[in-house]
Amino acid sequence: MLAALSRRPEDTDPPMTSPRFEQGALIGVLTIQPLDRVLDYRAPPGGCAAGDHVEVPFGPRKVTGVVWGPGAGDYDPAKVKSAIRVLDISAMRPAMREFLGRVADYTLTPMPAMLRLATRAPGLTDPPGMRKIYRRGHGQPGRMTPARARVLDLLEEHDGMGFMLGELAELAGVGSSVVKGLVASGAVAEEEAPRDVPYPSLDPHMPGKALTGDQATAAARLREGIKAGRYGTTLLKGVTGSGKTEVYLEAVAACLARGRQALVLLPEIALTAEFLTRVEARFGAKPAEWHSGVTTTERRRCWKMVAENGAQLVVGARSALFLPFHDLGLIVVDEEHDTSYKQEDGVLYNARDMAVLRASLERAQVVLASATPSLESWVNVQQGKYARLDLESRYGPAVMPEMRAIDMRIEEVPSGSWISPSLKGAVMQRLERGEQSLLFLNRRGYAPLTLCRACGHQIGCKHCDARMVEHRFLKRLMCHQCGETAPMPETCPNCEVAGKLAAVGPGVERITEEAQALFPDARVTVLSSDLFGSARALKARILEIAEGAADIVVGTQLVAKGHNFPKLTLVGVIDSDLGLQGSDLRAAERTFQLMRQVAGRAGRAEARGTALLQTFQPEHPVIGAILSGDEEGFWAAEAAARRAAGVPPYGRMAGIVISSPDMQAAFDLGNRLARLDAPLRRIGAQLFGPAPAPIARVRGRHRVRLLVKAEKTAPLQSALAEWAAQLRLPANLRLAIDIDPQSFL
Ligand code: ADP
Ligand code: ZN
Repeated sequence: MLAALSRRPEDTDPPMTSPRFEQGALIGVLTIQPLDRVLDYRAPPGGCAAGDHVEVPFGPRKVTGVVWGPGAGDYDPAKVKSAIRVLDISAMRPAMREFLGRVADYTLTPMPAMLRLATRAPGLTDPPGMRKIYRRGHGQPGRMTPARARVLDLLEEHDGMGFMLGELAELAGVGSSVVKGLVASGAVAEEEAPRDVPYPSLDPHMPGKALTGDQATAAARLREGIKAGRYGTTLLKGVTGSGKTEVYLEAVAACLARGRQALVLLPEIALTAEFLTRVEARFGAKPAEWHSGVTTTERRRCWKMVAENGAQLVVGARSALFLPFHDLGLIVVDEEHDTSYKQEDGVLYNARDMAVLRASLERAQVVLASATPSLESWVNVQQGKYARLDLESRYGPAVMPEMRAIDMRIEEVPSGSWISPSLKGAVMQRLERGEQSLLFLNRRGYAPLTLCRACGHQIGCKHCDARMVEHRFLKRLMCHQCGETAPMPETCPNCEVAGKLAAVGPGVERITEEAQALFPDARVTVLSSDLFGSARALKARILEIAEGAADIVVGTQLVAKGHNFPKLTLVGVIDSDLGLQGSDLRAAERTFQLMRQVAGRAGRAEARGTALLQTFQPEHPVIGAILSGDEEGFWAAEAAARRAAGVPPYGRMAGIVISSPDMQAAFDLGNRLARLDAPLRRIGAQLFGPAPAPIARVRGRHRVRLLVKAEKTAPLQSALAEWAAQLRLPANLRLAIDIDPQSFL
């Protein structure tokens, strides 16, 4: 939602030229130092222009910043220091400066933090030059050691890619002498390479696939938007396998053919490898990548090449939105409903919404692709803000699966088991026919709860309010909140009685165990993100499974995303009610999306698939809507409920989280803040709380949350800023404002 962004995207006309400053002129420089203003300096020798990256003295240190405009001139002229030099990297374009400012205003983030987000590449101040890089050589090591094997495995995993010495040693967990030893034997090649080289060029004129009727229509519409060279957002809706990717790659082709850059945002790294291969097949080379799995050298190259127009297409995670594109013509947000687009740490922004903002400033097109769009996007289409293109059928002979509920109230399921007799029968049938089944449960690990049968103690995390989840395959307990792990104890940590710790409830590992016991002759396999060391290992496993290496796949939401399993004809959802409980307003939407995606796994090739939903509430409206496939009906009902409640996207909300190691201190501050609510009352906003936050303790800090609810047109940001500014934060207390929180609880 961009309600608070004052100008409508269509009206935006970013300034095209940047003012120049002669040497000695007063300039304002934005740095990443946590200060609330730009600092005055004098332009360095040779002068500079707005947008230039500069190095400036800051106390005894040198820091980098961006020339933001003329200096304010309110500082003692005798004390204003001169900037040292202009850095040899592309200046920040006016549209990018405008973008950072608008995101800062919308999310109430200080500008230094925005600049940090926009310059998150290492070594930007280094002079361009040569460096030594290391890649897999042709020789073999004289003797193989575990350390050497780690280095070679790593290089093979990133085939053809060059690493710097320190980076390679660190990633492989070896000393640099190990790498040098491998160089001596020729197993690793040491080469001189320029620091940053452009990415191989993509050929947008290579032929794509022959598109079907509605695919061709959709592609043509997207191409028109690109050709017009102005802003526009299109929701591209179609079930998984309907060819959305094929269609938006046509938009990418049109964009590249016009010499502009394109950005494809994907929600999960696990998908990137598959996507890169498709891009290579379509355009003859791989695109640039930007996500947490990319090495520091590659990050720097990507950042610089994006700025210098040496990268035509970037595939990345949400932070790729802050890359310094030279001329961005298209942003694709794939799986636009995915919750991982909302950053929940640091700068709290929703990449989907900010993509729309950035595109409006760059005169670019946005494609939001999804089988199950977010309610926000659905409403934006209803209100005429976004265009919508539908891909009606799946590509090829596949059809939507038949969907049925299994009423768990009448099934006889022994305690400690979760696979009903009806589901078991359906799996048996598939086994006899040599087809695959998927048992879906969105819960990692073996069991969500470990309980002592002697004293009733539940094993919780030392640092959080979360429970420790047993991971039997890894033989450890793990906190899914903060990542803390511990060995599984022999005795109860509370009463010290041995042998009484019991697993309660199912996770995918436990369902795997149950399936193996029920179907002893079947090949059962589990797909869960924590069981794979790397995205590549996961991808390899998925490929094997798709080719028939398993009869029964047990998986989490990982499998709900975009993979093809041609032999799969049955999806059994272990617990369809997960997510229906609780008072989270988005629960219904999430359940609906997840169920439809999972059901979309079944019967992708010739055979028609079946989806069976185990539920204790077969008459629940969400379950009903999934079964009947009445999507528009579901959205209309959900939208009406939100409108009646005055919540997003019809109203505006913000969460304020106060955290402290001391719970009482956090509550005291929350109460003080609640009493100072005059700025909120002035805009007619309602205030709720303070109450314990949905996750009440994280990494040893207690969290208290206040919720603010306002009308859609209310100036929420300025009221919030004024409200929070009344408080001075004592040491050890932190306050974070989250506009459009994902969870309302
Ligand atoms: P989505 O992104 O909607 O899930 P994809 O674009 O990934 O769908 O298409 C699913 C599969 O069908 C892919 O393997 C894709 O290559 C193939 N496909 C889609 N459309 C066509 C087409 N017109 N011709 C050939 N193959 C196609
Ligand atoms: Zn924890």
